[in-house]
Amino acid sequence: MTTQATDRYAVVGHPISHSRSPWIHQEFAKATHQLLEYDRYDVSAADLTSFLDSFFASGGKGLNITLPHKGSAAAAVQQLTPRATLAGAVNTIWMQATGVLVGDNTDGVGLLSDLTHNLGMTLKGRRILLVGAGGAARGVVAPLLEQAPASLVISNRTASRAQSLVALFEHLGPVSARSFSALGDTAFDLVINATAASLTDEVPAIPRQAISPATVCYDMAYGKGDTPFTLFCKVHGARATHTGLGMLVEQAAESFFLWRGIKPKTATVLRELQSLTRAS
Ligand code: NAP
Repeated sequence: MTTQATDRYAVVGHPISHSRSPWIHQEFAKATHQLLEYDRYDVSAADLTSFLDSFFASGGKGLNITLPHKGSAAAAVQQLTPRATLAGAVNTIWMQATGVLVGDNTDGVGLLSDLTHNLGMTLKGRRILLVGAGGAARGVVAPLLEQAPASLVISNRTASRAQSLVALFEHLGPVSARSFSALGDTAFDLVINATAASLTDEVPAIPRQAISPATVCYDMAYGKGDTPFTLFCKVHGARATHTGLGMLVEQAAESFFLWRGIKPKTATVLRELQSLTRAS
């Protein structure tokens, strides 16, 4: 009798020890009765391409890609989905039966599922400020514009990067760039922090007037409880603040669906992750 090998998945980044993805995917696998392994690999930029080759050559089924490799992964795969092309970054890879490596990006759908489904927000007609112009910001511009906001302003420490994003996406909707100082005293309905500032305990230098008692603040970063950005928003009277744990779980659910053809339910996993994070 031959035993069938367990399907292998993993997340690749540098560093990677902090990643919650193995736990999340194992929870999805249990809940959907799928048999799979999900590991984590710390891979340097120089080794990324050879790692991808050897992982899939040895029968690996799929990979998640995280910081700092999402852009390089987009260049390393043979085919990109339309949303990965728009995002210029890949966080999910699988190999087709033909041997072609395909890269997709589920960060945008992850953020939108968290905002609209988990948090019950309507983005149509809203004024949105997106802070940051790196890979994560680029991945969410098109999905945000699909929601028909009144305006989407992109503001970044390096202003020229925000302008480049606008040039890429302005055909899709009302998106514009403004430097931090040019934000003036405009308040927004939703402020999304897509910078890496929270990782170094910093807050992007947006004016406090961007936050009003009607503003919802969302930090894509997450940690133990509040981030520096969600604290900043609380201090300046935001209506509500959220960290990126929901986005993390939702982008993972979309990856799981791409690989396994089954969309796992996310509510229980998110609740458990929130309490694990509080406890750690
Ligand atoms: P990235 O490509 O390296 O971009 C970093 C961005 O942060 C740039 O816009 C950079 O501005 C800005 N920045 C860094 N330090 C700053 C500071 N001290 N003040 C103001 N701006 C600062 O990184 P990324 O991939 O876009 O990731 C950004 C964040 O999103 C990270 O915290 C990441 O963990 C989070 N993320 C979360 C999820 C999730 O599932 N929750 C998914 C994806 C990403 P400059 O252009 O001026 O350098």
